[in-house]
Amino acid sequence: MPFCTRRCDYCAFATWSGRDELMGAYVAACRSEMARAYDEGLGPAATVFVGGGTPSTLPPDLLVELLEGVRRVEGAEVTVECNPESTSQALVAAMRESGVTRVSLGVQSLQEHVLAGLGRHHGPGDVERAVALVGAAGFETFNVDLIYGGAGETEDDWRRTLEGVLRDLDPPPPHVSAYALTVEPGTPLWRDAARHPDDDVQADRYLLADATLSASGLEWYEISNFARPGHECRHNLSCWRQGDYRGFGCAAHSHSAGRRWWNIRSIERYITAASSGRPAVAGEQRLGPRARAVEALRLSLRTRDGVPGSALPDLPELEDLLDRRDGRAVLTPRGRLLANEVALRLLEPEGGGRRRPRNVAARPAARSAGAARSTGRIPGKLRRPDCCPAP
Ligand code: SF4
Repeated sequence: MPFCTRRCDYCAFATWSGRDELMGAYVAACRSEMARAYDEGLGPAATVFVGGGTPSTLPPDLLVELLEGVRRVEGAEVTVECNPESTSQALVAAMRESGVTRVSLGVQSLQEHVLAGLGRHHGPGDVERAVALVGAAGFETFNVDLIYGGAGETEDDWRRTLEGVLRDLDPPPPHVSAYALTVEPGTPLWRDAARHPDDDVQADRYLLADATLSASGLEWYEISNFARPGHECRHNLSCWRQGDYRGFGCAAHSHSAGRRWWNIRSIERYITAASSGRPAVAGEQRLGPRARAVEALRLSLRTRDGVPGSALPDLPELEDLLDRRDGRAVLTPRGRLLANEVALRLLEPEGGGRRRPRNVAARPAARSAGAARSTGRIPGKLRRPDCCPAP
């Protein structure tokens, strides 16, 4: 849903404010694109993710209309992203009636000044109210998105946000995503160097999040994602396992067996194409078997499944970055800080001649987490898995 009430300072997503008059035509265009895909043989979805932008800015009846156009299997996981300030009783009720099973709330912080520094437009009171509405409506599960490393955020601010989320929200979230703030070119944040985050500070914030969340029973299952057992996001797990997915809407990405394609970015051009039954595709990419195998390892390394132990060389510099158990190699908390560095040492999969590390000739591994933090390779820099539908 490419609509937001206002733009946040760090956001580079394909989303616009002040275009609400296009919402009705946009939903109709998405439904046309979906109907065409079903006519061509697309089956029902096991998981559905309505992302943004801000889906909760849609009037509830339009969100219902959109969801009615999505074919899904019995028991499908259906997630809708909502912002706290636009999560209303009517919207929550409409989502429940439409079969939504999971709400993902863009909380980011519980500190007023940190939210202001991020250019967000809600306060902690909006968060408490939205969580209470979600809880009262009886959703099976919900997520809270957090961002660390914003301007003016101290370690105490971050600790208070984590503790507040776990202790003061009612009900407490069974799933938390904690992302490092990233500076995207062209954003207001990018133009304001004084607000750029510090990599070493962000690394410390990540370790604090990991310790605090895991002590409360929310275990990491992907570098930036923590959940109580059974509350992991099935949609994202499928993306990280290279599952097929189909995206609808402007700038939506799709994947099927190594072919990726993405839609037109502009709302108007998307509406024109999809409403008239024409493909809205803007480009595509095909991955061969070897590239897919390498990507599978890279994605899996970021998760608690890890990779086969044989996929990483037995180097002393990787020793405290990996937990090697039961034939698997899984990142330790320090390893997660250096996930991209470790990924460079993945061995090419079997079957293609000599196995060798990827792209690391003459490049020493980081000596320690502390030394390599300064390289900027810290968790959450990859905000979404790059195989996943982009907003
Ligand atoms: S961060 Fe979310 S709410 Fe803010 S502009 Fe981007 S999509 Fe909209």
